[in-house]
Amino acid sequence: MVKRIGVLALQGDFAEHKLALEQVGAEVIEVRLPHDLDTLDGLIIPGGESTTLRKLADFYGLMKPLRAFAQDKPVWGTCAGAILLAREVVDQEPHLGVMDIKIQRNAFGRQINSFVADLDIDGEIYPAVFIRAPLIVSVGSGVKILASLNHNRIVAAQQGHMLATVFHPELTNDLRFHRRFIEMI
Ligand code: GLN
Repeated sequence: MVKRIGVLALQGDFAEHKLALEQVGAEVIEVRLPHDLDTLDGLIIPGGESTTLRKLADFYGLMKPLRAFAQDKPVWGTCAGAILLAREVVDQEPHLGVMDIKIQRNAFGRQINSFVADLDIDGEIYPAVFIRAPLIVSVGSGVKILASLNHNRIVAAQQGHMLATVFHPELTNDLRFHRRFIEMI
């Protein structure tokens, strides 16, 4: 059955996620208002700027519906999206606070310090794009670490139906992460 996946389309690189999801055969809905969440099988919260995403989510009355959705259905946050999911954000209040990870914003420096690295995930190599990326500084006991950079910096994690990556698979031609998310559903 074709999966209906929402992409939060308030700000950031939602168009790239939409394209990747279409390439893996999903039906994609752009989410801008609470009722857009109604019929979805899963949701991606894209990268962008977490403070701006938060302001827009507040403005459109999305915070409560997003929190309820994430508690119940598969959600994947990339970069700023991962910041939105985190239960703890270093030096500031959390946003959705649904995933048991602690995250630190801009942990790799400024925009000019953005980089691409190869990640080893279960023995497979993935190209990973880091743009003013956060870092997952710690995870709760129910959270599986999927990938680390240099063996000690956590950059991807999964807690049941919630997935967080601090890098951007949607900015590469590699569709494996989008497939993985579809398979989680
Ligand atoms: N630095 C951004 C933030 O703190 C995240 C960057 C990104 O999503 N590429 O929200």
